[in-house]
Amino acid sequence: MQKLKYERPVIKQLNAGVTTKFGAQTGFIPHTHIDGLAVKDLTARFGSPLFVISERTIRQTYQEAYNAFANRYPNVQFAWSYKTNYMNAVCRVFHQEGSWAEVVSRFEYEKALGNGVPGDKIIFNGPDKTADDHRVAVLNNSPIHIDHFDELYGLMEVSTKLGKRPKVAIRVNMDTGVQPMWDRFGFNYENGQAWDAITKIIQTDKMDLVGLHCHVGTFMLATSAYAVAASKMADLALNIKRQFGLDIQYLDMGGGFASKNTLKGAYLSGTDITPSFHDYAEQICTTLIKAGFRSEELPLLILETGRALIDDAGYLLGTVLANKRLSDGRRATIMDFGVNLLFTSFWYEHAVSPAQDCSQYAEDAILYGPLCMNIDVVRENVKLPPLNKGDQMVVHRVGAYNMTQWMQFISLRPNIVLIDLDGQPHLIRKHETVEDLTQLESTPAHLESFDL
Ligand SMILES: *Cc1c(COP(=O)(O)O)cnc(C)c1O
Repeated sequence: MQKLKYERPVIKQLNAGVTTKFGAQTGFIPHTHIDGLAVKDLTARFGSPLFVISERTIRQTYQEAYNAFANRYPNVQFAWSYKTNYMNAVCRVFHQEGSWAEVVSRFEYEKALGNGVPGDKIIFNGPDKTADDHRVAVLNNSPIHIDHFDELYGLMEVSTKLGKRPKVAIRVNMDTGVQPMWDRFGFNYENGQAWDAITKIIQTDKMDLVGLHCHVGTFMLATSAYAVAASKMADLALNIKRQFGLDIQYLDMGGGFASKNTLKGAYLSGTDITPSFHDYAEQICTTLIKAGFRSEELPLLILETGRALIDDAGYLLGTVLANKRLSDGRRATIMDFGVNLLFTSFWYEHAVSPAQDCSQYAEDAILYGPLCMNIDVVRENVKLPPLNKGDQMVVHRVGAYNMTQWMQFISLRPNIVLIDLDGQPHLIRKHETVEDLTQLESTPAHLESFDL
């Protein structure tokens, strides 16, 4: 018979747990497998910590989102927000599903071209575009989304020199009833600035105004904001038609749909309160359909959804390095990943599960990362069964904004693996090495040697 593993005893107040409509909470369900592959096999082969992405979850989530809109509106196009996760393999899954690319820098633009996205299907957003960025985007016939008047005049100069008419949209910001208002990007609707920009573009007649764009916030739990935004966008498009006889080809409603993560300090868990794609689609599509467009003139609806499409597909696997008691008696568990890899732990209370069979008895714990830095806290307060050095854990819903915002700080970044539809793992980004980083450095001659 196998000997049972020693578990430290804990003293715990007896508590039947809060009964919800799903019954009483009965303990921990270990998360031992991802898409059929054992966590312990994945880390044995690819190391710990390790990011894992489920191709199946990406495709299922995408199709659910696409159908929610396509069943309510005749012409819908998604454009993958590169900054949310620009691993090429991830972008290509979205492109295979039919997504265009949405980029906010030259770096992301080059990545999209490198992935084989045709120039006219790369939407170029963002406040930071140089004259050379404009030149390349104009030559590739990419829709350029203008952020401010300085960009508008700069782009006019570039395109006049090239003798080309760029395809442009303006980014519009507006009051959607949600605070804080995102008014630092684009032209304001309420004070007439958006209309000024539109009028200038049409009357100077050097560019083709093909669309209108907005991106009203991120992690928007209030779906009503999208109805307000859609009605203001439709209002601009209908006014353009009325005053200039011009049909706007697309309305781009940006991103911002919430994922199922739980925001820090939220009372209810994200899985219970996050609106569904249907909720968002209902607000946007119903507003546009009723706005007053003739049916053959309904503009293409573009969506740049980021986090809601990829968060669920990403996991971070890690290993317990140590346990300790803090001065106030609280249990602290130190993991081999921290805020360097899990940037979103600044905003979210990420769900964590043990990756092996565990006790049903839980204790409040604080989950630390391995960095030599006080703010390296992954979870401030989480109920966990006793875990031992070497035990593994799975962090859920880490697909968005971690593999792009991670920091190379103190330690190197780990492998990323994608599990395909047949359950085969593929290494899609190799862990960094000291050589990878030092090859970018150079040492001035007078600093090459020293005596100690
Ligand atoms: C970041 C960004 C997105 C994606 O936002 P999510 O909140 O992740 O959906 C879409 N469009 C623009 C312009 C962005 O900057």
